[in-house]
Amino acid sequence: MENLHPIHGLDGSGLSSYKLTVVVPLFNEESVLPLFHARLESVLESIQHDWEIIYVDDGSTDQSPLILQQIKAANARVGVARFTRNFGKEEAMSAGLSLASGDAVIIIDADLQDPPELIPAMLDAWLAGADIVNMRRLQRSGESWFKKATAHAFYRVINRLSEVPVPEDVGDFRLLSRRAVDALNLLEERNRFMKGLFAWIGYRNVTLDYNRDARVAGKSKWQYWRLWNFALEGITGFSVAPLKIATYLGLACAGITFIYAAYFFLKTLLVGESVKGFPTLIVTVMILGGLQLMAIGIIGEYLGRLFVESKRRPLYLLEEYDAPRASEDLHAY
Ligand code: UDP
Ligand code: MG
Repeated sequence: MENLHPIHGLDGSGLSSYKLTVVVPLFNEESVLPLFHARLESVLESIQHDWEIIYVDDGSTDQSPLILQQIKAANARVGVARFTRNFGKEEAMSAGLSLASGDAVIIIDADLQDPPELIPAMLDAWLAGADIVNMRRLQRSGESWFKKATAHAFYRVINRLSEVPVPEDVGDFRLLSRRAVDALNLLEERNRFMKGLFAWIGYRNVTLDYNRDARVAGKSKWQYWRLWNFALEGITGFSVAPLKIATYLGLACAGITFIYAAYFFLKTLLVGESVKGFPTLIVTVMILGGLQLMAIGIIGEYLGRLFVESKRRPLYLLEEYDAPRASEDLHAY
């Protein structure tokens, strides 16, 4: 098995020349894209190293593809991949990671909630020896207290259940070294809960703090139903604890019922009782029925995911990929 061998590669410490890839997953971001690109490009121009940007258009239905074409025409260092439909941000990030050719890769949102101006600090942490530079949000402007509270609860739950801790308040904005990217590219599962995958691969992690800005324009694509399903993906993808809980709950119920039955048996033998106790009966039946349905539902969650994994479909389909031109082909650097 090839993936049992250590992945050799650069961790960044002491590199004098390198190439940075910035991966940008985006979906219907026409209102911020030009501004985003301008800000990102001016930061990248300032770092005095080779770079490329890979925009992954996650099936946008607005003017984003057109804007990307213009951006690409104006700068050959930009690559544009387009999905055949909206596959989701996790898939878009996965695509970006497998297309990236840099020694370090930074994933950043297109809505300017992750300030591109932090990139030099992330590179410094990488050059000092980190494989993964996590960016922790100190403040989350422009997000409702409910979203923040549910996000907090989610991290509490997932960290109780999963075998690898997922750092709280760390979004997808992060830097990955070449070998961390290669490691991620080895993971073939369809369940792309990237926050869990980033934690799973290990390596030297460093966390930097920043204040998360509000979205510059446009709307968040994460409605609560989507977030809820995202949370379920995360929990079921990284832990079998719910299955165990179902098992123990079932066992406990069976045990209690057994004692209860013994009690009635003895009572009838000793005292002799007529048919009473309809309430106990119905309550017992209903509790057991409910628990059984719940346990079946939990099994179903896993089974459904097993089903999806077993089909081994590709994670995403590319409509087209216009690769960035390699730096050797570009004059004047
Ligand atoms: N995004 C994506 N595919 C989707 C939804 C979102 O590529 O199906 C991108 C989106 O364009 C943005 C990033 O993921 O660049 C974060 O999305 P958003 O700002 O909506 O999420 P939030 O910041 O509210 O968590
Ligand atoms: Mg956002």
